[in-house]
Amino acid sequence: MTALTTHSASLARAGSATPHIAILGAGAAGLCMAIQLKKAGINSFTIYEKAGSVAGTWRDNTYPGSGCDVPSHLYSFSFEPKHDWSRKFAHQPEIEAYFQQCAEKYGLLPHIRFNTEIAEAAFDEEEALWRIRMRDGEEVSATLFISGAGQLNQPFTPHLDGIENFKGAAFHSARWNHEIDLTGKKVAVVGSGASAIQFVPEIAPKVAHLTLFQRTPNWVVPKADRPYTRLEIALFKRFPALAKLHRYMIYLTLERNFLAFLKDSFFGKLFEKAARKEIETHIEDPELRRKLTPDFPAGCKRILLSNDWFPAMARPNVSVETAGIDHVEEGALIGKDGRAHAADVIIYGTGFKATDFLCPMEIKGLGGRSLNEAWREGAEAYRGVAVSGFPNFFMMYGPNTNLGHNSIIFMIECQVNYIMQCVKALIGKDLAYVDVKPDAMNAFNTQLQEDIKKSVWASGCTSWYKTESGKITNNWSSFTMKYWWQMRRADLAHFVQAVKRRRKAPALQAAD
Ligand code: NAP
Repeated sequence: MTALTTHSASLARAGSATPHIAILGAGAAGLCMAIQLKKAGINSFTIYEKAGSVAGTWRDNTYPGSGCDVPSHLYSFSFEPKHDWSRKFAHQPEIEAYFQQCAEKYGLLPHIRFNTEIAEAAFDEEEALWRIRMRDGEEVSATLFISGAGQLNQPFTPHLDGIENFKGAAFHSARWNHEIDLTGKKVAVVGSGASAIQFVPEIAPKVAHLTLFQRTPNWVVPKADRPYTRLEIALFKRFPALAKLHRYMIYLTLERNFLAFLKDSFFGKLFEKAARKEIETHIEDPELRRKLTPDFPAGCKRILLSNDWFPAMARPNVSVETAGIDHVEEGALIGKDGRAHAADVIIYGTGFKATDFLCPMEIKGLGGRSLNEAWREGAEAYRGVAVSGFPNFFMMYGPNTNLGHNSIIFMIECQVNYIMQCVKALIGKDLAYVDVKPDAMNAFNTQLQEDIKKSVWASGCTSWYKTESGKITNNWSSFTMKYWWQMRRADLAHFVQAVKRRRKAPALQAAD
């Protein structure tokens, strides 16, 4: 075990009850957690970040047109408003810059160990410490282990038969290869989800030809996007209450949209109507209209927002293939219908291994029980933040906390608030650990799975919201207000509260 002692002196000064906290990831969730710890005067934490900078998904997804489909005044921390968002739905560089500024403003950079990927974490019950091993073999110990990994951090690239014969470049949208100039190239795009609908319209005008290999069409509705005027920005700065009101209005409008995610919902039909109108407006070819019209209820997969997707689909240099990919040859993708589609570049817009959650990390709790093993039938947690048998381990954006209708930042703040209460209880009561009781976790998940049956996600379509067996592991089942209500107070009666053993406290070890 490598003892990194830089913090030890300050920890000793702070007293033996001050835990060292290891946070995984410097994305929105990890940063939010760290900021709240700092605000509470708890400075003995380290963020382990596998990449070289902060902002997580907003650092990784640099593809052309990358942006958020949640309005920025809401897709930002409630305690750190940015009054000068340039437009309603900010693009990736502005969002990444926002999170960088948060990290700097709150003095988080000295706490971050960049290029340090956690590979394993095991709970040492004897010492009530998490033993954490990095990918490079380094080991550290922490009293609390908090994951901010989220659900969308591991790109999924399907294996295409014969891909090894392909002579051109191939890359995933979340690992965009900016070295490659697509101008005049024949480009094959695999996938037509939230990422593809953003980058395809951006690259289509410059490529020689774009072949979209679409497995399933999506419901795509207009995006009410526009730049904020200088007057609006000035007013938000001058009257912060106005910006706050704007944020609440966005929140309430999005919250109402949850109604569209209930089975056979009238609101869902309105989304379908809006999407059909877009198709009729932009697509003349009846066959193409048919290809682009989903046959499942709106919301079952994420409802997508775009004003330029259907115009891009109507371009003469864009073709939509739905036969599926049989195999790849040196300079072409061969469809299952036997047709060859010439390609210089393949771009995978095929999403993420969303139901794998913390895989490939190996996390072991009490009795050496593996989290991946515990989640073999599909991930589940108590209120998305804790798992029974994994003491002093918390997650943000964990199982069943994703949304189809509102801002994930809101959910993350609810989770951080909850975790902070657990951390404070641990310190205040000088506990060895807290561990959610199995009964509490089971009761929570039984109710959640019952509620979620009423949602459109339980309709027939496949999506990254559920496992292959059909268990919905990713989405929250209701309004975010209900989640907020459940998360406003940590009910410690639902946790085993293990007292410290009466012997010399273990030496605290911390990373710098
Ligand atoms: P996605 O929505 O999961 O889309 C993946 C696409 O790849 C789908 O069209 C899927 O088809 C297709 N696909 C997957 N495996 C395939 C295979 N083996 N062969 C052919 N096609 C295959 O992924 P994403 O577009 O990266 O978006 C993922 C999530 O990221 C979104 O839902 C959203 O939450 C988030 N995101 C958000 C924003 C934003 O604006 N906030 C932007 C981008 C992404 P099927 O539908 O048939 O599976």
